[in-house]
Amino acid sequence: MADRIYMSSPDVTASEESAVLAALRSGWVAPLGPDVDAFENELASRVGVAQGIALSSGTAALHLGLIALGAGAGDVVVTSTMTFAATTNAIMYTGAEPYFIDCLPDTGNMDPDLLSKALNRLSVEGRKVAAVVPVDLLGKTVDYTRILEISELFGVPVLSDAAESLGASHRGRPAGSFGKASIFSFNGNKIMTTSGGGMLMTDDDDLAQRVRYLATQARQPVVHYEHTDVGYNYRMSNLLAALGRAQLARLDRMIAARRSLRERYKSLFRDVPGVGIFGAKGDHEDNAWLTAITVDAAVTGWEPAELSAELARHNIESRPLWKPMHAQPVFRQYRGEISGASERLFRTGLTLPSGSALSAEERDSVCGVIARFLDR
Ligand SMILES: *Cc1c(COP(=O)(O)O)cnc(C)c1O
Repeated sequence: MADRIYMSSPDVTASEESAVLAALRSGWVAPLGPDVDAFENELASRVGVAQGIALSSGTAALHLGLIALGAGAGDVVVTSTMTFAATTNAIMYTGAEPYFIDCLPDTGNMDPDLLSKALNRLSVEGRKVAAVVPVDLLGKTVDYTRILEISELFGVPVLSDAAESLGASHRGRPAGSFGKASIFSFNGNKIMTTSGGGMLMTDDDDLAQRVRYLATQARQPVVHYEHTDVGYNYRMSNLLAALGRAQLARLDRMIAARRSLRERYKSLFRDVPGVGIFGAKGDHEDNAWLTAITVDAAVTGWEPAELSAELARHNIESRPLWKPMHAQPVFRQYRGEISGASERLFRTGLTLPSGSALSAEERDSVCGVIARFLDR
């Protein structure tokens, strides 16, 4: 791992190390245990919801959330096309059919007008829509005011994919508190990590109970393991929850580090015509998980891939924004409301190293390579 500068590598310190060691020594090495309970309570109270259920991944949380909302074969689940494949994969696991909604050009988040169009169309067709799953892209929430209003109008529950937006907010209210349920991811590249893990957040006690039950092999409360449902082994290990608690205690500092790096990118690109900081409007509510730029090559005279290649020559990782799901070979046959905005972002966007673990020297080195590239 040495030397290469990644977009978002885990930010782990001595406090995480001692938390995991303490959990190991406590004897709670099996899945579940006191750190899992405490992690659930601490994150639920931070986000302001009644319940958190710690799971093995964000994908598992999406999967169980969809099952608990009744999604299954023959149903439609309406979702963002501008996302990581995990969102759509979870829909596929349930047997439901994804229906993709294109994004707003300035944030990459679900376009509410296109959502409204989709729900109208599906309602005319008489299709059952099991859920709307909007995705908070790169740490900025969707417009929940409008998305929830539109979904409610059609009586469709919202499962919010907040995998990337822990610590962000919409009109002062925390990401992870919107809709019928929300999910977070603690994968290694996210704003905080449990190495691998996720959590489903909800105010609905019945839904929480159902998710807990399904995540632990759907055991009926009898000694001989009676089963009336197909279950899953999706719970989080106690050791990883201990890591998560130590990360959560440092979350605000990690967000502050990412924000300060974004500010640096902003000043670096301020006077560069044709380059914009992606989603810069409304930054104060963003957790700054990843900072990306958008490049108008007709103005700059260079393509984002050229800057990316220059960074790669210095062993620095950068990537295009997510390739939209409707353009992925595996999901191409599914329908959607496609405006072209996400395809444009895929062509023009470039995500830069954004992690809170980057040292001052690494930040200088990334910014130096970019500055020299711009001065060619
Ligand atoms: C990371 C991510 C997920 C999946 O989370 P895992 O914990 O890796 O399973 C889901 N949705 C989005 C938008 C993500 O970025």
